[in-house]
Amino acid sequence: MIQYQPLAPDGFRGDPAYPRLVELDTAPARLRLVGDDLEVPLVTGESRRHVNLDYAASTPPLVEVWETVRLLLPYYSSVHRGAGYKSQVSTAAYEQARATIRAFFGARPDDTLIFTRHTTDALNLLAASLPPGARVLTTAVEHHANLLPWRRAAVDYLPVPAGPAGLLRSLEESLAQAGGAIALVAVTGASNVTGEIWPLAEIARIAHRHGARVLVDAAQLAPHAPIDITSLGVDYLAMSGHKLYAPFGIGVLIGRGDWLARSEPMIQGGGAVESVTLDEVTWRGLPERHEAGTPNLVGAVALAAACRTLQGYGMDRLAAEEADLYEVAWTRLSSIACLELYTVWDHTHPHIGVLSFNLEGYPHGKLATILSAEYGISVRSGSFCAHPLVRHLIQSGQINPDPLRCGAHVPVTGAVRLSMGLGTSRQDIDAVADALAAIAERGPRWRYSQCPVTGEYRPDPDTRTWPALV
Ligand code: PMP
Repeated sequence: MIQYQPLAPDGFRGDPAYPRLVELDTAPARLRLVGDDLEVPLVTGESRRHVNLDYAASTPPLVEVWETVRLLLPYYSSVHRGAGYKSQVSTAAYEQARATIRAFFGARPDDTLIFTRHTTDALNLLAASLPPGARVLTTAVEHHANLLPWRRAAVDYLPVPAGPAGLLRSLEESLAQAGGAIALVAVTGASNVTGEIWPLAEIARIAHRHGARVLVDAAQLAPHAPIDITSLGVDYLAMSGHKLYAPFGIGVLIGRGDWLARSEPMIQGGGAVESVTLDEVTWRGLPERHEAGTPNLVGAVALAAACRTLQGYGMDRLAAEEADLYEVAWTRLSSIACLELYTVWDHTHPHIGVLSFNLEGYPHGKLATILSAEYGISVRSGSFCAHPLVRHLIQSGQINPDPLRCGAHVPVTGAVRLSMGLGTSRQDIDAVADALAAIAERGPRWRYSQCPVTGEYRPDPDTRTWPALV
């Protein structure tokens, strides 16, 4: 499936001798993930095919990504600093990865792409690079990663909107009221709690009319829908490789270079400097200025491999398949008595495959533990690093608030989140819906206890054994 190919004349600095490490079978008929046939133990003693419904948190690698990493590793060496053959191959692969990822997200020719650790890192970098006095407008729907970094600057919040029209109206009003003082509008591409896809092109049009730029937190949207920042008119995009089937510690910030080219690097050290004396430093230009330290070559090449593979399969095709599964999941879950599903907007609005809910009588943490321990189904529970949104959903009529007191911390309410990805099948949706219906009807088949300090639930006793990995 993956072969060494002679280098195209325009790749790897034009040297045809270098092996091509980010070239793949570009049109796979079917996408497969490492570990998609994993069996997991249940507390009741059997084992079961693992049903992963926690893609919104982190994804396993695509088979093609893992193959590319295996191909790369014998060549692994330092990037940008070595004269040796392996080092030159590694540098070429790193820069080729940058070009591939830029193309996947439709970057403009003068955009920069900075490799980061993840979305959080990318958003913090942009927040640290805002021009002095910049004001930011964001929303109460955001993940904490797209809320907290902006507090370095002056930040205003739009309330949770009742629908897309309300969002665009309140955006327009807030920008007009600010009279051109907002420099940046920072919004999610899709909610990590309820899955709504945001109207990015319209947001960008309104923001630009008022002289503001737009950043999209694409951590959730990027794995589920095509994103072309040029045609959307989006100025910046931040995302994480571990949510796009390349879990090797990489993320990116893509976008306009001017603010980033002028700002003091957030992380300072080797690779980011032109020259250093004991009193002075001259920083390099983009992207090196913001990539101090040894770059994550494996992560960059893995993410590029994921982008190529997904491109070959077709992001539109993937989005359509996931939209069908979302509909099935919505229909099945909404037919379970005592289960309350949450949405910010009507469920017929375009969604990624994310659904959050509570089942009456079950604390969210306990329900997630039962699904794992008795059914081999992985979901997430809690407040999903989006406390303002979860609080809003719960105040507007939750059936089971389950306040958890974590040590001396403030109680947080929450829900259970089911999230789909490219490995999700109709059988997976049936498995979780059947399990929830059985729990609602008959209750758990095991005993569970709660840790008084963390509030976590555990099967009691937990009979499952863990593989020894380290
Ligand atoms: N934004 C959104 C919408 C997310 O869902 C997440 C991850 N849950 C993040 C940002 C942060 O991503 P990371 O942890 O990879 O930095």
